[in-house]
Amino acid sequence: MRILIDAAACTGHGRCYSLAPELFEDDEQGHGRVVGDGSVPPELQAAAQRAETACPERAVSLLPAG
Ligand code: SF4
Repeated sequence: MRILIDAAACTGHGRCYSLAPELFEDDEQGHGRVVGDGSVPPELQAAAQRAETACPERAVSLLPAG
């Protein structure tokens, strides 16, 4: 699984990086960005799904790995 953030949709609520700081971080404007290449290890898949659900802008997408 891989995470993608739609930067045009993100308005910087910060729920993603509050919920899953292993997977998301904030940029200089407080907008979310993925950590590293966005790959989600198996043990963090539930956290990635929580972040996707919690984003009020629906800016977080989960894609199959690869
Ligand atoms: S929760 Fe959504 S809107 Fe908020 S920072 Fe993360 S991606 Fe952006």
